[in-house]
Amino acid sequence: MDEKFDCIIVGAGVAGLAAAMILARNNMKFLLIEKGEFAGSKNVSGGVLWGSDLARLVPEYWQEEDGGWERFINHRRLTFLDEQSAFSIDFKSSHFNETPYSGVVVLRSKFDRWLAEKVQNAIDESDFAMESFIATNIKVDEVLMENDKAVGIRTGEEEFSADSVIIAEGVNNLLTRQVGLQNDYVPADHILTGIKEVIRFDQKVLEDRFQLNGLSGMSNEFVGYATDGVEGGGFLYTNRDTISLGLVAGIKDMREKEKSPHDLLNNFKMHPVIKDILQDGEIVEYSAHAVSSGDKRVMPREVYKDGVLLCGEAANLLMNAGKAIQGMDYAMRSGILAAETIVEAKEQADYSSQTLKQYKQKLQGSYVMKDINSFQDAVHMLHNPTMYQDMPNLICDFGRKFFTIDNEPTKKSRNLLSESVKKHSSYWDLMKIGFKGAKSL
Ligand SMILES: Cc1cc2nc3c(=O)[nH]c(=O)nc-3n(C[C@H](O)[C@H](O)[C@H](O)COP(=O)(O)OP(=O)(O)OC[C@H]3O[C@@H](n4cnc5c(N)ncnc54)[C@H](O)[C@@H]3O)c2cc1C
Repeated sequence: MDEKFDCIIVGAGVAGLAAAMILARNNMKFLLIEKGEFAGSKNVSGGVLWGSDLARLVPEYWQEEDGGWERFINHRRLTFLDEQSAFSIDFKSSHFNETPYSGVVVLRSKFDRWLAEKVQNAIDESDFAMESFIATNIKVDEVLMENDKAVGIRTGEEEFSADSVIIAEGVNNLLTRQVGLQNDYVPADHILTGIKEVIRFDQKVLEDRFQLNGLSGMSNEFVGYATDGVEGGGFLYTNRDTISLGLVAGIKDMREKEKSPHDLLNNFKMHPVIKDILQDGEIVEYSAHAVSSGDKRVMPREVYKDGVLLCGEAANLLMNAGKAIQGMDYAMRSGILAAETIVEAKEQADYSSQTLKQYKQKLQGSYVMKDINSFQDAVHMLHNPTMYQDMPNLICDFGRKFFTIDNEPTKKSRNLLSESVKKHSSYWDLMKIGFKGAKSL
């Protein structure tokens, strides 16, 4: 295969597959290379794919009985935990039952594989049905550069040439560093470890336990005791007959507090409220993966250069401002925008940074960079121990008193709140947090 491709995409995660779909639909000749045995085999997410971009890639995907997704989200919950209690903000709405859904739970080994099949169908219908490929089980070792412009890739002894390369390699962005777009050193406090178990239930038990109807599903994020004093949070998402339960925890903080991911997850599962939820469940899968903190300070210095575009978590596109982790939807949108830029570059027969910088403009104009820019203060706030320790303790302490009825005179809520504030924090700290929170959210 010594012919030149219009584009080579590295990585068949959400970003790479989204890019590939757009290239195939636009009759581009491309190669999508994935190091895993199949698309998704190495990928981990909680995970909810938020937003409706999936419907742009696979129109009416919800019509497929056994599509790549598990359940749509119509029930959301944010829970604060202390050692014994859980205080939740709970929101459920039939508004979320409408298609296109605004969030679907996915299991990546199934979802990415399914999406790769859809991309293959699009390739089969394109002008390059016999000349565009999805190649798995191949690791890209190097992006080939000539005069600081990408001209292809090398895998082992083999080289493939292309007019452009989309790097969609995910959070461990070695090629991004190799082409000089990211510093070699990324501080450990900007990377988290995600750990997750998939726990199976009898489907009826699962549906009753979480009040699911048909393919509706629930997402639950946890703050506080979930990570036992370590920066991060927990999550629970309902799949068809399993749940995904896990944590994301700061690597630096874990090391300093001498906690292991495994101990943290076990601790979370032993919480009395979580233990009740997990009754009669059987662990069928365990996985771990790095995940970005979403801090802009560790983003690559640029998302393009001559012949190269970066998308997804390779470009550190992620948001975790407390309400949800958004990585897959950012990966999908950035993959779409990167591929659209490559299509335009081909039309102009110019893959230089002069043309490719339009990708940056598209990204800046999209909700992805708008959100990353406007919620940076919230991302920084979550590094503050008050947010993942004192606040959840305070909230649960107040909740316990508020909901206790014990044949004693009932105190006014404001007095209860005052007691909890004094016990776990101070009005001064709360004012600071409140002020920052009002500014950042
Ligand atoms: C525990 C956990 C929970 C999460 N929960 C959520 C959630 O609920 N919602 C959400 O939106 N996001 C979530 N995320 C984040 C989300 O998973 C990522 O942001 C998203 O997967 C990024 O997509 P991507 O395509 O950029 O990278 P990836 O999905 O990581 O894909 C990169 C691909 O590139 C391949 N690759 C890498 N290097 C090479 C190479 N040299 N050669 C060939 N192939 C290569 C990899 O094998 C992989 O398939 C979570 C992450 C974790 C770890």
